[in-house]
Amino acid sequence: MRKSIKQAYEDYLKLRTDLQKTCTALHNLHSPHTQCGKGCSSCCMDFGLMPVEFHYIVEQLKNKPIALNRETEKGQCIFLVNNECTIYEHRPIICRSHGLPILFMDEEGENYNLSFCPLNFNNVNDNYFSFENSYHQDTFNSKLYMINKAFIEAYTEHRYQSSQLVPIHCMPKFL
Ligand code: SF4
Repeated sequence: MRKSIKQAYEDYLKLRTDLQKTCTALHNLHSPHTQCGKGCSSCCMDFGLMPVEFHYIVEQLKNKPIALNRETEKGQCIFLVNNECTIYEHRPIICRSHGLPILFMDEEGENYNLSFCPLNFNNVNDNYFSFENSYHQDTFNSKLYMINKAFIEAYTEHRYQSSQLVPIHCMPKFL
């Protein structure tokens, strides 16, 4: 593996580890108020992944027996089998924030928007969410964008555009 690709994968893994710590702390903080758990898979969509993340996960899954949902409904994730994730340990970054209140900047870059699952937080009032107890999506996504930029510059097998995403359902072709 080329050094620059290896470095991008290492940077991705470090970011994912840091993000997981943040998400775990937030999940623990919110757990008295949330319903999210095994069996609910409403968040499990066919997400588009940045190429660095897509190919890193492919590397981890290569030659491993992974159960796939071949009859998935359109738009659903192929790794959702019997309402469980078959690649849980390697799931993408976006999946790690499932169930958290997500804070992100609007397109104009002027205001924060908050998104949360009403099935999950069905018993809190409007004042419950705050800047401190929400997941700051843009902070991690901007770091991931820079890692991906370095990756796609080094990756010569396919020329990706800077904002190109690869849907999860493309993964089996590479496994
Ligand atoms: S990778 Fe796993 S957690 Fe993520 S959307 Fe697919 S089934 Fe859900």
